[in-house]
Amino acid sequence: MFGHIEARLKAQGNLPSPPAVAQRIIRLANDPGVQLGAVADTLAKDPGLAAKVLRIANSPLYARRRRSSNLRQALTVLGLNAATTLALSFSLAPMFQKASPKGLDLRRCWRRSLLGAVASRTLGELAGLERTEDLFLAGLLQDIAMLAIDRMSPDFYVGLEAAGHADYCRHEIERLGADHARIGGWLLGQWRLPEHLCRAVAASHGGAAVAESAADDRFERCVALGGEVADLFAGGDGADTVADLAPTVLDALGLDAVRFGDAIATIVRLLPEVEQLFETRVQDPVAVQSLLDQARELLVVRNLETLTRVAELEAVTGELEARTEALELQSRRDALTGVCSRGHFDVVLEVEFASAVAGRWPLALIMLDLDHFKRINDGHGHPAGDAVLRATAKLLGQCARDTDLVARYGGEEFVLLLPRTDLVAAAAVCGRILKALREQVHEVAHQVIRVSASLGAAALDGRHRFRDAEQLVRAADRALYSAKNGGRDRFVCHDVDLGVVEVGSFHVGGSS
Ligand code: GH3
Ligand code: MG
Ligand code: MG
Repeated sequence: MFGHIEARLKAQGNLPSPPAVAQRIIRLANDPGVQLGAVADTLAKDPGLAAKVLRIANSPLYARRRRSSNLRQALTVLGLNAATTLALSFSLAPMFQKASPKGLDLRRCWRRSLLGAVASRTLGELAGLERTEDLFLAGLLQDIAMLAIDRMSPDFYVGLEAAGHADYCRHEIERLGADHARIGGWLLGQWRLPEHLCRAVAASHGGAAVAESAADDRFERCVALGGEVADLFAGGDGADTVADLAPTVLDALGLDAVRFGDAIATIVRLLPEVEQLFETRVQDPVAVQSLLDQARELLVVRNLETLTRVAELEAVTGELEARTEALELQSRRDALTGVCSRGHFDVVLEVEFASAVAGRWPLALIMLDLDHFKRINDGHGHPAGDAVLRATAKLLGQCARDTDLVARYGGEEFVLLLPRTDLVAAAAVCGRILKALREQVHEVAHQVIRVSASLGAAALDGRHRFRDAEQLVRAADRALYSAKNGGRDRFVCHDVDLGVVEVGSFHVGGSS
């Protein structure tokens, strides 16, 4: 059968081969008598690779008490087999960075591979398997044939951009007589990768290939399940949930629901480190959160069934909670500008308003809306608009004190919350912001542009009372509206007593 595939593949174009440094490492991996010095020398020829091996030895993936400060120490800490396998993972990674421009969604493929690698390794570790870095490498390479096929025949995957993993396999079997798992196993054999890795990749879609292999080959099962866990992270309509996969994990590896929930939490915990090592962003916070929720639900149901595992359960739940908190922190930031998000601002505002009322100290709020911002998008493009928004957010941060909160209220509107600040002091802050904005120039495609803003301020202080936080926001909003109506590039304070008073080029006005 492989002769047949080989002929078909060769008819498609030239088979890709691994990078030179990977080829050298494969030779080392195949040498049973390899010495530490030889591995160190090979790695040292590629400083980027050496740095990564050193880093991984000191990473949470290999949490050891002793830090390795040089390559030889790292090789000793990791063990030669592990170090060679990891070096191979890093040296093969660049292959994922070259796809045909039209066919395969390379980033999706690479994300699945990295997730599959972490998942295979984590499952193996929990199931008590040795050589977990081999699991990592096999997990990483399980879809390598898709890249090979895509590079040989750039049209091969066209039209399958939104398809699921199973659709890809059907397409491959139709046109090549085998899916990428089996072709991958064969290809890695051509590259002279160790036999057990080739077998695990060939068996990574489970089914017949796993059944054909040794009855209790848990190594291969970890790799196959790693791919399925990776698909959990991808989510999507009709995708499996953690609970759907749990019985298979129990069957294949003897890991019950609690241990599987633990595995999911561990994978989530390790991802940031793996993302840094492979310089790829893998996690989608929303998908990760949904998965953690699923894992937690599974654990809660299980806990009702078996009350004996309480301590273990608590440890896992604790980890899930820590992760949830980290995600929540992430969602406190506005993705584009890095200042607080609207959601977080709403929460803080309520808290600060209540504290100000209870503590009888003032609280000011400034709303800011960039002037004619649409023209920037229209005239210079959306990315230029985005850059201006980021620069404005930065400038506001510089104008504010540590105790103030700067948030993106929406679109091109920002809001500042200034605890222990009355309206007079807030007006001074508005003046500073206007001045700073006027002095700020944005360079867009060698053109200089300036952006002004209109500001509205309101404050809860000795002279101004508000029933609740919402009223305070409304007052600032109305003041902003009069600044716009008054001609923009100015600020207006909501002051019931003052009437309209112009101060230099900015304005203090009243409206209620
Ligand atoms: P005005 O002085 O009356 O406020 O005029 P304006 O053009 O600033 O106001 P308008 O509300 O008409 O337009 C706001 C524009 O802001 C339209 C919208 O496309 C743009 N915008 C909102 N969010 C973003 C963003 O995240 N990035 C970019 N580049 N533009 C955004
Ligand atoms: Mg505007
Ligand atoms: Mg606006």
